[in-house]
Amino acid sequence: MRNIIQRRNIHVCRSIEAYRQHLAKLTTNGPARIGFVPTMGALHQGHLSLVESARNCNKTVVASLFVNPTQFSAGEDFDKYPRTLERDITMLQEAGVDIVFAPERSEMYPAYSLTHVEPAAFSLIDEGRARPEFFRGVATVVAKLFNIVQPTNAYFGQKDISQCILIRQMVTDLNFPVRVVVCPTIREMDGLAMSSRNVYLTASERPAASILYKALVHGVNLVESQQEKALVSAKVVKEEIERVLSSEPRVSRIEYISVASPRDMSELHEISHGTGGILSAVIRLGNVRLIDNVLVGKAISDMYLTPLDF
Ligand code: AMP
Repeated sequence: MRNIIQRRNIHVCRSIEAYRQHLAKLTTNGPARIGFVPTMGALHQGHLSLVESARNCNKTVVASLFVNPTQFSAGEDFDKYPRTLERDITMLQEAGVDIVFAPERSEMYPAYSLTHVEPAAFSLIDEGRARPEFFRGVATVVAKLFNIVQPTNAYFGQKDISQCILIRQMVTDLNFPVRVVVCPTIREMDGLAMSSRNVYLTASERPAASILYKALVHGVNLVESQQEKALVSAKVVKEEIERVLSSEPRVSRIEYISVASPRDMSELHEISHGTGGILSAVIRLGNVRLIDNVLVGKAISDMYLTPLDF
């Protein structure tokens, strides 16, 4: 007997107008209560875990597929970023998404536009220094997507922790009626955080990539082993993370190691167990840039707010 796979209806909107028309239909009998998952496509289980969280707590689930040009700096991988639209739509359909919003670049960024969202303080954190266009591009595109999609809850992965903190702040600063829900990082068996960019790793680089998570977990263990101290030195934690990263010969460069505040990503000199912190690092394996982070202490419970009820 053949298994029959029953596929739910999914609406793919390739323009803002198409999305708005569909939203109008959904809201005729009351609010649509939308859970929104913004993505750049090339989907993996990490993205699908956000969809699953959205499915659990919202009436309608919307995912966007849009490789946002404004968050790439010159020389980054915008042109070669993996684009797998058909496969992504099938995955979203199977995961229970109701609407896919996949706009054209020309509609999201018409030739003449003047306004953007500038989260100035984020240009000073390590990731902002390393990628000068990044946070402005992310804040601007997410603001545009929120205005179009009109979500109740929006789901972001802890994998991009500074993005989560930035969007939470933007929602407060600009009065978006949206709850920002942060979901845990989904990892491969050896600890490597899933990422659309992992496909760039060669077969020999791939096993070495797990050193990043191992080094960060080593940092967490160090902080947690010092419960008797009110404050743990960030310098010592960074040195230990660096020592572990340096033990892997395939790591061609350690771009930065950061111990940051869970409130605004500013660098900490000391971690207090009361507030906790975010340990993150960026390394290069050959040409591939890998980023990851882990939370320590109270930062863990503070990060995972529950979605707004519907
Ligand atoms: P991207 O397509 O890379 O822009 O990611 C879209 C969303 O998926 C962002 O909120 C990411 O933080 C999240 N995401 C990416 N990788 C993972 C992962 N391994 N686990 C959980 N969320 C992830």
